Amino acid sequence: MNEENAGYTGGCACGAIRYWIDEAPLASGICHCRTCRKVASAPTLPFVTFPARSLVYEQGVPKAFTSSKGVLRTFCGACGSPLSYRNDAEPGLVDMMTVSLDAPDAYPPSFHVWTSEKVSWDVICDELPAHPQSRP
Ligand SMILES: [Zn+2]
Ligand SMILES: [Zn+2]
Repeated sequence: MNEENAGYTGGCACGAIRYWIDEAPLASGICHCRTCRKVASAPTLPFVTFPARSLVYEQGVPKAFTSSKGVLRTFCGACGSPLSYRNDAEPGLVDMMTVSLDAPDAYPPSFHVWTSEKVSWDVICDELPAHPQSRP
């Protein structure tokens, strides 16, 4: 996406957690599933997928919890910002919460997932592909 960037940085709201990723993102989407909504306390949770091997926490250690079988999510233990999502089914990938990145404008989403679980007043106002569940 932003090929001139030598790295991708982000962190939580309070600044306790800072991370750095040195490989380009692979995808950018918006999840409407119930678990993401609960984790974010928001109607959607946008995410950017990166190679998991490239993620380095430069400051702080995030808390982690298993939100469903095989899924590990991290967040800041001080301010609660959701940070990452990993699924045992795709061990090479990590989803970073788009708005935790320092330059979220650089990662416009190209699809929606789990629209079958979206809240009724969450109206999708773009023409992007919208998948009822995960991306096929
Ligand atoms: Zn924080
Ligand atoms: Zn989700």
